[in-house]
Amino acid sequence: MATRSFPVLDPIETDAVVVGAGPVGLFQVFELGLQEVRAQVVDSLPNAGGQCVELYADKPIYDIPALPVATGRELAEKLLRQIEPFGAGFHLDQQVSAVARRDDGRFDVATSGGTRFVAKAVVVAGGVGSFQPRRLKVDGLDPFRGTQLFEHGATLHEHAGKRVVIVGGTEAAVAAAIAAGEEGAAAAGSVTLVHRRDDFDADEATRARLNALRSSGRVEFVAGLPEAAVEKDGRLAALTVLGSDGDSRDVPLDALFVLLGWSPKLGPIADWGLALEKKQVVVNTASFETSTPGIFAVGDVNTYPGKQKLIVCGFHEATLAAFAIGELVHPQRAQPLQYTTTSTKLHKLLGVAP
Ligand code: FAD
Repeated sequence: MATRSFPVLDPIETDAVVVGAGPVGLFQVFELGLQEVRAQVVDSLPNAGGQCVELYADKPIYDIPALPVATGRELAEKLLRQIEPFGAGFHLDQQVSAVARRDDGRFDVATSGGTRFVAKAVVVAGGVGSFQPRRLKVDGLDPFRGTQLFEHGATLHEHAGKRVVIVGGTEAAVAAAIAAGEEGAAAAGSVTLVHRRDDFDADEATRARLNALRSSGRVEFVAGLPEAAVEKDGRLAALTVLGSDGDSRDVPLDALFVLLGWSPKLGPIADWGLALEKKQVVVNTASFETSTPGIFAVGDVNTYPGKQKLIVCGFHEATLAAFAIGELVHPQRAQPLQYTTTSTKLHKLLGVAP
């Protein structure tokens, strides 16, 4: 990954930092809000929704109570709408890299994007881990990462007029080929899409747009497997592709976009001194607190007897964690159970008419 430098910002003081904006991290914000706990949310992905959006955005989910069916994306959108009243801060496209207890009992939390927080509680809702781009296993590419090799489509427009090669059969790879191939200011000089077979993970309309660009010659498709990097005068000059016909050919390039999707890694969470069992965070099921007081873990990231990695289980965990964090943040306050149906206090917090 390219080395980026970030300004060191003043820390944001908050009640709780939620690590992960998957469905459980989002619902955690809602339950914390009902307990008058302010939250900031961080995710390494550029969008909220976790696995629901990253792995099955357009597939139906049938086992969310009172939602007979919703796609992964729809569920994430509904959760985002539900938490709106609580105005949580979102810090996307950055990974929580470090969590350390301060002398005053609060936590210093730092992200790869240079954002820092001082929080009374931390909720780890990191799911199966922080999503990292899948890398192309071809020797000799690493030195070009960030200059000629990119694993995210965001900088595509910077290569207008250049020879762009895109590797992958994902929705992102197809979208990048279309964006670079269509006429306009961002159009590349040439676009070659490399994938092992002529079959793409994209809806019908998107595939039709791609096919039109292929027919007009704006996008060339090469079926095969990248096998070598060709370097010339210190630059990445071409990608050697072993074709499905058994022949190898060099595809010349100025910029290579590898868009093979994302794979999750537990990542830095493993280094925060929390008790782990088979790379899952061990929790107490009364409060979903970890082995470190003040740090909680909810959703797919945790483990306890009987654990099931289901969204509805994560919602329950987030609810009990919020009650425990409410006591931590407001120690003097008696917290009788209140219903959103009848409590005027909760109505005020939710911003709804009584
Ligand atoms: P995730 O959704 O994994 O989100 C965790 C987030 O944390 C990620 O966005 C990640 O980038 C972020 N993160 C991790 N570490 C860091 C860090 N250090 N810094 C910043 N961000 C970090 N469940 C059901 O109940 N019903 C279903 O029908 C269903 N269908 C599924 C279908 C498929 C194909 C798959 C793969 C799963 C399905 N699941 C289903 C499981 C469900 O998606 C998970 O249980 C759910 O996503 C867990 O939510 P989560 O918020 O705990 O974690």
